[in-house]
Amino acid sequence: MRKRALVVGLGIAGMSAAIGLRAAGWTPVVVERAPERRQGGYFVGLLPDGRQAAIDLGIADDLHTRNPADGGRAWELDRRGNRAPGLGFLHQPGQPAAVVRGDIEAALWQGLGRAGTGARIDVRFATRPVELSDAGDIVRVLLRDGGTGEEYREEFDLVVGADGLRSDVRRLAFGPHARYIQDWDAMICAFQLPGQVPGYDDQDSIISARAGRAAWVFGFADRAPTALLTYRTADISGQFTGDRIERLRSVYSGMDDPVVRYVLDELERAPEFLFDSVHQVRMPRWSTGRVVLVGDAAWCLNLYSGMGATSALRGGAELGKALRSTPDDVRAALAAWEAALRPSILRHQRIAHLKQQMFVPSGRGTEAVRSFVLRLGGAARRRQLARELSASPAGSGRAS
Ligand SMILES: Cc1cc2nc3c(=O)[nH]c(=O)nc-3n(C[C@H](O)[C@H](O)[C@H](O)COP(=O)(O)OP(=O)(O)OC[C@H]3O[C@@H](n4cnc5c(N)ncnc54)[C@H](O)[C@@H]3O)c2cc1C
Repeated sequence: MRKRALVVGLGIAGMSAAIGLRAAGWTPVVVERAPERRQGGYFVGLLPDGRQAAIDLGIADDLHTRNPADGGRAWELDRRGNRAPGLGFLHQPGQPAAVVRGDIEAALWQGLGRAGTGARIDVRFATRPVELSDAGDIVRVLLRDGGTGEEYREEFDLVVGADGLRSDVRRLAFGPHARYIQDWDAMICAFQLPGQVPGYDDQDSIISARAGRAAWVFGFADRAPTALLTYRTADISGQFTGDRIERLRSVYSGMDDPVVRYVLDELERAPEFLFDSVHQVRMPRWSTGRVVLVGDAAWCLNLYSGMGATSALRGGAELGKALRSTPDDVRAALAAWEAALRPSILRHQRIAHLKQQMFVPSGRGTEAVRSFVLRLGGAARRRQLARELSASPAGSGRAS
């Protein structure tokens, strides 16, 4: 008999785990609390581990990437709003693939067989778990259909909690959020812009980063850029009171450069935006009995790490591989999976603090160092591109 797994959450981690489990001979059932699949989303840079996981899951050919030509240009704005070439997210080592979150999810959705190809995986929308009880050889789950209000019980050989930062599976199986979620005293607001900031090329990325607050615009090859506002504050609960746009206007007041002005004006017109606090999830174990967490639910690295989507893909793909290589012992498979993954997750959790300084410096000193380093990097990159151009046959032809 094929073993059944309940996968909670239809995000990157949940869909990756479901595809991985199916490849291992399991029958996954995915439940998603939202009434339908979400689309779009914000800029995500996918690093080599994530691209390899996409290949392992068989979705790489369906993954639409949007890297600007020649790596794209990034501009750094100074305190007077003047621009200088800098280094953007896509210029880091590993040549990240530029996508929006929805591109990864669309490819995974195809992989679930939901777009008319391959074996279809059962997906139930508007459904969430309300009770879990691990009986040793089986997990009994009480599920609630949010549409009809109906509650029903089912049994599974494994429950995979892929339900994000504020995971219900984690709360039900491991205990309260406060035990695992660390506050980072920072906020984000991410949304889709209707077009590029006036005066810049469509594919440009633009960064205006001051002490404690920053605005980023991420350019793509074939769609309008997305914007990210991120700032530091010790008063997280206070950020969720009152009107959010007024709150952001007040946080960014005095930072009157053309990019911040444009982003805030477009935020007022945006049909939707993500506004949330920044956290990391730290857990001593990612599984207990036959319940395992994956992705943000288990280790949320947060956006500053630039590795959340990559690690969610990899976590799901590797879970499938571990269950395939130890088919008769779920606990041993989960232990082996965690032992292989944990060192790199811990490393990225630590590095995220340093990367946060690149996104939003903590003070005037780090702002100056950051700006100096990135402008130096930008100049070095320009020189390198010029050298490559003059060394190439087409480049020397033009030069002569
Ligand atoms: C602005 C921003 C920029 C980012 N940039 C990058 C980047 O450049 N590179 C990168 O690698 N990562 C990036 N990340 C991180 C990355 O997007 C996340 O780490 C990743 O999407 C997490 O996927 P997940 O599937 O674990 O969780 P989620 O995306 O949170 O998905 C969880 C799913 O579970 C569902 N759910 C929740 N609770 C329940 C429940 N009780 N029952 C059923 N379903 C439930 C939710 O509706 C959702 O569909 C960024 C994040 C942000 C916010």
